[in-house]
Order: sequence, then structure tokens, then C-alpha cells
Amino acid sequence: MRLSADYHTHTRFSHASGSVEDNVRSAIAAGLETVGIADHSIAHALYGIKKRRLNDYVADINRAKRKYESRIEVRCGIELNLIGLDGSTDMPSDYDFDLVILGYHKAAICKDFATTWQFFTGADKQRITDSYVKAIQKGNIDIVAHPGYGVPVDYTKIAKACSEYGTWFEINNKHADLTEEDIAVDTKFVVSSDAHCAQNVGRAPRALELIKRAGIGISRIVNVEED
Ligand SMILES: [Zn+2]
Ligand SMILES: [Zn+2]
Repeated sequence: MRLSADYHTHTRFSHASGSVEDNVRSAIAAGLETVGIADHSIAHALYGIKKRRLNDYVADINRAKRKYESRIEVRCGIELNLIGLDGSTDMPSDYDFDLVILGYHKAAICKDFATTWQFFTGADKQRITDSYVKAIQKGNIDIVAHPGYGVPVDYTKIAKACSEYGTWFEINNKHADLTEEDIAVDTKFVVSSDAHCAQNVGRAPRALELIKRAGIGISRIVNVEED
């Protein structure tokens, strides 16, 4: 099995080591048809793209899109932070991204104390799950990144919301902490490298191992094909 697309990769605009172009070249070398650049959005205290750099970020991706157009599809993405129990995210206003990923991250600044407390303690799994579901229900999320990473969630409920709203449930290679039972859910999956250096773009060996063990057919994964 191999990836045909890798939608979740990072660059120096957040905290990875490579440039947009490094990721694109690496994706071409890995034989991918599509690569997504999806750096951390603005509410991430440590790694978020600085607001004042958002224009440069988008311009850089658009340049790579044009330059490599005949060889690969490049998507301009963003990895949003879940920052509210009401499903709030840190989607920057005035930007139109081709690819929207949503995830919970420990260092994200939440919108209020109740959310900070819930996410910090992980005390109420259903309430945390509901905040993901509410974010998905807003309808513009393409991928739920690394579900269960950092906070406990009900995988079945998240998968159901994903199916209803056309969102893909991610099996992440970097945060490879899902078990076979966790992904025994009825939904469409996407496998991501979550690469933080260009060499890892298109590489997801741990995620592919998990899929094999769990016996998930590739027809249920949007970006995996047979070798
Ligand atoms: Zn993430
Ligand atoms: Zn990421």
C-alpha cells in the first residue's frame, strides 16, 4: 500500500524545517498526485502561523501551485485548532483555503476558561466529543486530524459526524496512538504523514501498518492505493 496524496504536511511557516517548495518537490519524488500544505492556525501559542505572515503563506503556496501545476496538485490548507466547547475554531477570516483540517492541540489558546479546563483535564469525554461534532457540523472541515490525540473522544460519534458532513477521519502517522478498536468505526479514512520535514512527505508506515492490522479495505481510505 502507498499514499496517492498527502493532505497534511507542515512547513517553516509553523514549526517544520522545510519550505513549501521543499514539501512539493518531495511529494513529486514520492509519486503523489496531490500534496496539502496545512500549517498550524493562529491560535496555537507556539507554532501557529503569525497573523501578519498569512498573506506570505498563501502567496508562497500559490506560487508553488503554479510552478508545479503540470506535475502535482498543490492544495492551500490550514490546520485549525479546536478552541471552544461550542465548536469554535481559529479559522482566519478573509482567507479561502482549499483544504481545512481540524485538530485539538495542547498549546492552543482556547476561547474561554470552561474550554481550557475541559481540554486540560479531559474530564468529560462526551462534552469534548460534542465540541468536535459541533465544529464538524459547521460544514467546512475536510479532515479531523489525529482524533483522540491530547484529549479523550468517542471515536464512534466523531466517525458518525464525519460521515454525515463529508469529513474524513484521519489516521495520522506522527501521532500514531489509535488502536484497532478505535478505528473500528464506519466512516471514510484519510492517511496523513503530518510531516514536519520534507523527507517525510508521503510517508506513513505506522499508519499503513495499523490499517493492515485492522483489516480496513483501501476502498474506505481516500488516499491509499495498492503498490
Ligand atoms: Zn495537529
Ligand atoms: Zn499537523
